[in-house]
Parts: sequence; C-alpha cells; structure tokens
Amino acid sequence: MTLPIFAANWKMHHGPSDARAFMKSFLAHYPRQQDRKVLFFPNALSVTTVSELVRDRPDLETGIQNIHWEDKGAFTGENSAPMARDSGASYALVGHSERRHVFGETDAQTNLKVKAAFRAGLTPVLCVGELLDERDAGNTEATVLRQLLAGIDGVEEAQVASMLFAYEPVWAIGTGRTATPDDASQVHGAIIAALKTAIGERALGIPILYGGSVNRGNATTLLAAPDVDGVLVGGASLDADGWNAIVRA
Ligand code: PEP
Repeated sequence: MTLPIFAANWKMHHGPSDARAFMKSFLAHYPRQQDRKVLFFPNALSVTTVSELVRDRPDLETGIQNIHWEDKGAFTGENSAPMARDSGASYALVGHSERRHVFGETDAQTNLKVKAAFRAGLTPVLCVGELLDERDAGNTEATVLRQLLAGIDGVEEAQVASMLFAYEPVWAIGTGRTATPDDASQVHGAIIAALKTAIGERALGIPILYGGSVNRGNATTLLAAPDVDGVLVGGASLDADGWNAIVRA
C-alpha cells in the first residue's frame, strides 16, 4: 500500500513571488501529515523557491514540469534534469498532455526524458492519456498502453518500479469534465496489468495517479476508486486554500 499522492501542476502560473506567497499561506494551514504525500510542480523559475520552502517538510516535495532529454547543450530555453535536481526538484513530469499535444512531444522523446530523469536522480512521473477522438473510437487502452510502453522502453525494471504514472484523459484536462471513478479504475487496472507483464509483481506497488479536472468536490470519490493512488491537479491547485482542501481529501 503506497501513501496517497496529491500532485499540484501549476502549469505556467505562479512565478517566484506568487509561488512564495502561495507556499507561505499553504504551509501556515497545512501541518505535517504522515499518511499522504504532496508534490508541487511549479514552473521551472519557481522550483528553487518552492523546494527551499519545503526543505523541512518530508511530506512535501518539488518537481519540474518538463525536462530536456540532454543533460546540457545548445538548446535555448530548455531546462535539463541535472539543473532541475540542482534547483531542488526530486520529480519530473514527463509526457504531460500539453507537452504532447501543444508542443508535439513524441513517445520517443518521452522515453528519452524518462531516461534523462533517472540519470539525474529525479523520479519521472510519466503522464499518459487519450484524446476524445481516440476514446470515441474505442482506443483508450490502446493509446494509453502505447504511450506507457514507449515511455518505459529500455528502462531498467528496478527503475520502472520506482516511477509514478498519471492517467490523464486529454478531454478531461482543464475542461471541467472528469472520468468517472469506474472509468479511471478500469484504465488504471490496464496500466497495472501492462506494468506487471513488463516487470512482474513489483508493478503492484507503483502509484498510478488520476488527473483531469480534479477539484475539492470530486477528489474524495476519485481517490476511493480501486487502483487510484493519487491525483494530479492543474487548475484547482492554483489557490492555496482550495489546494489545502483537496490534499485533506
Ligand atoms: C493537469 O494539468 O495535469 C491537469 C489535470 O489539469 P486540470 O486539473 O486543470 O484538468
């Protein structure tokens, strides 16, 4: 049984000043909890601010929203995994739907990013999810499992066992629509089954988060669904009080 995980993806919001104000407010009202883990994914410029503010809180950790697959080089505007680690990140989102569908990131690139994260000592959180067209065509599991298996291709089994995965149906991200708990459980079950085929029994301990319009009203129900081990939250994580309510779900 893994601890439930609550992950906040702030996307392109909360620069360093806002991030500091958010964290001061959040920390003032959220004392240390032993029975859950809270992860913050600020934009790259705010990673140091957040990681320094949670340094004394083992129940709170910081990640970066995206990394390049190379460790350094002539890639203007990009951030590498070693730089994220140096800024205090412990996790990296890889293959978020906005990376895949707004910036055209491919399965092969997500795979390189998973490997880059491990090289730098970051835990990758591989995000997978189908478009509405793919869902309507009955291709949800095929899409999700293709992204999953491509993302972990050539990654050592022990490393795969240490990863986090997030199922985020693209049609549910930022739209106010969520998968039903049953739908989420079904896809999470398929992910676990595929991971079990890939790495055996160790797959059973891998946390699978659900993401897509999670809010304070639906978080408890989604978290109660079988095989939902946590939530990845965008819009509803931007307000410190609202996020505080969700992480108490
Ligand atoms: C996300 O960005 O990962 C996400 C799930 O966004 P939202 O909660 O706003 O749908």
